[in-house]
Amino acid sequence: MNVVIFGPPGAGKGTQASNIAKKFELYQISTGDLLRNEVENQTDIGKVIENIISKGDFATDEIVNDLIEKVIFDPQKKNKLIFDGYPRSVNQAENLDLLLSKSSQKIDFIFFLNVKKETIIKRIEKRKILENRADDNISTLLKRYDTYMKTTKPVLDFYSQKHNFHEIDGDKKIVEISSKIEQILSV
Ligand code: AMP
Repeated sequence: MNVVIFGPPGAGKGTQASNIAKKFELYQISTGDLLRNEVENQTDIGKVIENIISKGDFATDEIVNDLIEKVIFDPQKKNKLIFDGYPRSVNQAENLDLLLSKSSQKIDFIFFLNVKKETIIKRIEKRKILENRADDNISTLLKRYDTYMKTTKPVLDFYSQKHNFHEIDGDKKIVEISSKIEQILSV
């Protein structure tokens, strides 16, 4: 099965995606991680996106779509994918559908982690202390939130029409969210 999990920054996508990946033996595909890898390895893409990511802006659809294409056509990962942080725009969502259908796959479950802005701010503050991610200061967070609202909101409109779309209350405790998601996936 293939799963998409999305929601604003700090909604807990990464944590939930990692739990689901372990439990259901899926590959967690985080475009944030893929992009940070490129930056770390100072590849051509990495050099271009370093500034973009640190400012809280989005990488271009072209760059992200290229990275994701390799993953989707990897036979080992076929029908074992959980996308975390992708798609973030309607263009990316359409591209995902196209690549999946070209490789005889589809999205089986879509989860939207809906979370209040105050909850996100509290969580990012904690993550800043724990992980010390350079992009996790409050002003970057607010920028990321605004970028999210502007760019990713249409993705919500795109997916919320679908029969396999599930909205999850992301203000709940991590374990409660996990069990809700697992319950849906186990049906
Ligand atoms: P994340 O780890 O998912 O919070 O992503 C960190 C940063 O990577 C984001 O703020 C964006 O700058 C960039 N990024 C991650 N995924 C995408 C995507 N699907 N499209 C564009 N930019 C992305």
